[in-house]
Amino acid sequence: MNLYDELIKTMDGGFGDRAPSVYAYNGAKAWEDTGHNELVMMRDAAYELGGENNPTVNCTCVTTTPDLVPRDEILVYGPDLQQIKRSTPFLRLAFLDVEDIGEAEDEEKAYNAIKKLEFVRYNVHPAGYMVRVSTESNREQVRVSKAAVSKGITFEKVGNDYINKYKEIPGVKHVKIIFATDVKDLSLWVSSAKKVDDITKTLTHILDGINFDCGSCNFKEVCDDTPGLKEAHIRQREDLKRRLGIKDRN
Ligand code: SF4
Repeated sequence: MNLYDELIKTMDGGFGDRAPSVYAYNGAKAWEDTGHNELVMMRDAAYELGGENNPTVNCTCVTTTPDLVPRDEILVYGPDLQQIKRSTPFLRLAFLDVEDIGEAEDEEKAYNAIKKLEFVRYNVHPAGYMVRVSTESNREQVRVSKAAVSKGITFEKVGNDYINKYKEIPGVKHVKIIFATDVKDLSLWVSSAKKVDDITKTLTHILDGINFDCGSCNFKEVCDDTPGLKEAHIRQREDLKRRLGIKDRN
């Protein structure tokens, strides 16, 4: 599954030669997870990531190219949660290296992983870190409480919480979480996240059934732009025909 590889490279490379703070994954360092949505009232908030009309984006990408996600780690660009004093721009990316299995099953496996991984972001509840997401625009806004700041919350700890949750999903090998709080122009990541969504929607269409008519397909533009998608549909069609015992007409 390398459908998202170019977008992972684009998003990862978007920081140029900047050096982030890098933290190796350590599940024991995860910030307390409350296990439920915790309401942080405005009067109790220290600041909002992506709040007050600051730009924000979030994106999850799956790959089976180990070089793109060679280890579990958390990268932080810009001020960390302890340094931030007011609302800032906010970016969070999650890149996941998942187990590779071949041919037609590969797309299905990756698609299932994508769907489960999308669910993870609704299932991470760091204490004093109230996440609000918009699936339509890929926005992710976080209200951080004064109490969490005074107790020492950091992106390393929150990132470890995310990785713990991602690693509960079978087939996830490595996870890279990237946080950024000082990038004012997020357009590169916003447009990349939109392309990721388009590819996932196309994959849904491909896995939905046997319909294969590029001429009338709404996803033609995405397929034309993404090497491997059309081949994925051909494989899925052949696999489905095989399972249903459908033979080609001569
Ligand atoms: S391969 Fe053709 S039919 Fe299949 S999703 Fe792409 S454009 Fe649509």
